[in-house]
Amino acid sequence: MAGKKKKIRTSFRKNREARPRNSDLTTKFHKQGNSLDDEASRSERISGKGALTRKRTVVGVESEAGQSGLAVVPEVDLHECLKGRVLRSGGLHSTVEADTGEIYECATRRLLKTLSTDQRHIVAAGDRVYFRPADHREGIIERVEPRHGVLCRTSKGRQHVLVANVDQILIVSSAAEPTLKPHLIDRLLVTAEQSRITPIICVNKIDLVDPADLQPLLGVFGQMGYQICLLSATTGAGVPLLRELVRDRQSVVVGQSGVGKSSLLNAIEDGLQLRIRTVSTETQKGRHTTTSAQLIPLAMGGYIVDTPGIRQFQLWDIIPREVGGLFRDLRPFVNNCRFPNCSHTHEAECAVKDSVADGKIDARRYESYCQLFENR
Ligand code: GDP
Ligand code: ZN
Repeated sequence: MAGKKKKIRTSFRKNREARPRNSDLTTKFHKQGNSLDDEASRSERISGKGALTRKRTVVGVESEAGQSGLAVVPEVDLHECLKGRVLRSGGLHSTVEADTGEIYECATRRLLKTLSTDQRHIVAAGDRVYFRPADHREGIIERVEPRHGVLCRTSKGRQHVLVANVDQILIVSSAAEPTLKPHLIDRLLVTAEQSRITPIICVNKIDLVDPADLQPLLGVFGQMGYQICLLSATTGAGVPLLRELVRDRQSVVVGQSGVGKSSLLNAIEDGLQLRIRTVSTETQKGRHTTTSAQLIPLAMGGYIVDTPGIRQFQLWDIIPREVGGLFRDLRPFVNNCRFPNCSHTHEAECAVKDSVADGKIDARRYESYCQLFENR
């Protein structure tokens, strides 16, 4: 998974100037002199004008996750570090679950913080990190691994990573009470496509309808290759499958309120919703902000990502022209229109509209596209 190694010139904040050369890494290099430390030493080399320069060369690994920007991964002495996963992060402080299961409260190493990036926080919930443990279950995050599956939002021109390493988005809707809203599913699918995170369409409360009635609608999603999960938190239908889907994965749960998200979470694991609520209440009192995401570990393995904001999230940062490409069923046609900048709404000789007329694209999906395009 590791990307290409490259040297990256980075700008540092002014406050680094006064700081003496961090001797930690050099000392270790002399003591042990193994290849890892050799790299660690090189990675902190100050170039050119000595301590006064604010540019340093950092050997890093370029992240493949395009949206999260360039993830700079300084080399560190991993022998002294533990690997873990950030359960929640308030920027300066992060709660990290070591792979061994213990929980550590961690600060972030200054080098990581001072590296210029577009991100508001260098550490986000869901990050895989190496941290140097200290007494009293505290530690310092030394390195953040390249990310995949990033949910972020842009505020004031900067990207804010809400959660990283999301494996899947469970789009929860209900067959009835409230009525199934295909347009909302379409919107959430667009967000998943944009983030390149696998969506799973979960339709709860199937005990209230004849599942056959859902076929025409859900068949369209199935043909596009989306996984569909028919569920009833009340009868337990589909719950074993859902459990298998979330096991050992990091899942974000989204959907309108009232569709049964809490009930499904409890069906997956007894008392899970209560645990989520307890953690939320505790962190609201603490140093973590209310809107930040948190990972709730599942007893069977895997994590449910909870954020009050994400649960009913809207489309973020999508340029209208991009929407067509994010509709899986429209995508094959969007480049075949007469006009290269075709919006597929009113133009003549539009391959998308032709495909709708030919029945190659579902008419309801096309309407949904138009609605999304116009509302951006
Ligand atoms: P949330 O707002 O998405 O978390 O939804 P809740 O889990 O709070 O559920 C909303 C309401 O739907 C509650 O009254 C549940 O008892 C009910 N409910 C949840 N799942 C089902 C289901 O599978 N079938 C039926 N009939 N009702 C359900
Ligand atoms: Zn077109």
